[in-house]
Amino acid sequence: MKTDVFISGGGIGGLTLALKLVQRGVDVVLAERMTKTPPTYKGELLQPKSMQIFDGLGLYDHIVSRSQEINVLDMLELSSSLTVRDQSFMDYNVLPGKYNAAYMIHHEELKKTILQEASEYTNFHYLSGTVCKGFTDQTVQLQRGKERFEVEAFYYFGAEGRSSVTRKAMGIEIKETRYNHHFLTVSFPRPENFTEGQIISTYNRFLGLFPLPHNQVRTVYLIPEGEYRELKEKPISHFHKLYTDLAPAMDGYVQSLNDWKKIQLMIPVMFHAPSYVKNNKAIIGDAAHAVHPMAGEGMNMAIQDADILGELAADMLESGNTAPEHLTWYEKVRYKRAEHVLQLSHLAALAYSFPFKPVSYLRTRTFERMEEDPILHFKQMLNISGLGIWREGMRDRFIQGGIMPVRAKSLPTDRKELKYFTREDDYPWKVEGFE
Ligand SMILES: Cc1cc2nc3c(=O)[nH]c(=O)nc-3n(C[C@H](O)[C@H](O)[C@H](O)COP(=O)(O)OP(=O)(O)OC[C@H]3O[C@@H](n4cnc5c(N)ncnc54)[C@H](O)[C@@H]3O)c2cc1C
Repeated sequence: MKTDVFISGGGIGGLTLALKLVQRGVDVVLAERMTKTPPTYKGELLQPKSMQIFDGLGLYDHIVSRSQEINVLDMLELSSSLTVRDQSFMDYNVLPGKYNAAYMIHHEELKKTILQEASEYTNFHYLSGTVCKGFTDQTVQLQRGKERFEVEAFYYFGAEGRSSVTRKAMGIEIKETRYNHHFLTVSFPRPENFTEGQIISTYNRFLGLFPLPHNQVRTVYLIPEGEYRELKEKPISHFHKLYTDLAPAMDGYVQSLNDWKKIQLMIPVMFHAPSYVKNNKAIIGDAAHAVHPMAGEGMNMAIQDADILGELAADMLESGNTAPEHLTWYEKVRYKRAEHVLQLSHLAALAYSFPFKPVSYLRTRTFERMEEDPILHFKQMLNISGLGIWREGMRDRFIQGGIMPVRAKSLPTDRKELKYFTREDDYPWKVEGFE
């Protein structure tokens, strides 16, 4: 079997890449080892840049109609007696333009939507239940049941998640960072009027609540590393109380969980592969980088990788500039952006990792200052949105630390929009050429 592009792994990253390529007329074979919907929870929050990308792929309205729109993340810091001590907001509406909200959608529903759209194209060949086993010089080796076969392609893209066969074949080693905490994660019904994201913390506890469509809420609760086994021995009412202590609005809803089995343990890790491209192979998404889930970025990074690599490979094939060295444009665009998000998420994780009152005090002060200072607020939302990067400078740090006063004046829309990535930033080879 011969094709233009072979993709290993049909998660969000692999599917988005496939859709992007087939829409441009590229012949794609995608192998996905699973045949059924996996029971695990994965990323569900779509950041504004991902919505812009899906708009370009013709899926924006469809996704909006199946999601819960999130405009505001409400950050509550509780005292030891569990009353609200401080409250601040992170508001997506400070971002000008169409993409000024996040959207919560069931992970598997999003995958189904992208797969259905890609399957409309006769140049898309989806091999379900097919495992990528490895590579020879010229081909990829696949296995479906007992059958073994090979596919030959111009390019091979690995989108298999954290344990990537393609990354291994490229000889790329990764170094994982582990954290001192894990998360319990589960979805359950929510009150109808609970429609914005909420992060509730005390100096030693953390609960994130993110409303899903169909009156569901996805939740993450931080536990110290290694505590899961001991917790599971307790009656499920213990779990209910952990939630209702911090979020009384969940009383009467969290109790719909009657078994620990439904609650998944999530172990955060961080790594960044030293490179994404080697010869005619490239890796995207979790194969290339794993991010701490605190800032809800993992799935978005996979989508953003897919957008850049898909546009690049389609341009290379269309223009006849097929030399694999041009694939490094993908790494040039994505590497620094991914590193920035990895660091942001890592810092956010650290802000909640240490159960000490001074850390809680510093955290609240930083969030308050961010809400009060319109430029800091815009920077924060821009950086998590994926629409652009604006790093914090010395003045920002002094404002956060209370050494300098907050700025009263906001930036006008046109100055904010100057901070967005342009088409030339996203796809620089279109301007600079392949020579
Ligand atoms: C358990 C878990 C929980 C998570 N929770 C959150 C969260 O709450 N919030 C958040 O923002 N992010 C979360 N993430 C991260 C987020 O889901 C990922 O960043 C995102 O799914 C990455 O997409 P991907 O396409 O790169 O990889 P994946 O979604 O991992 O998809 C990889 C696909 O490749 C397939 N595959 C693997 N190996 C092979 C092979 N050899 N041959 C063929 N197919 C193969 C797999 O079956 C899978 O379908 C979580 C990740 C995990 C693993």
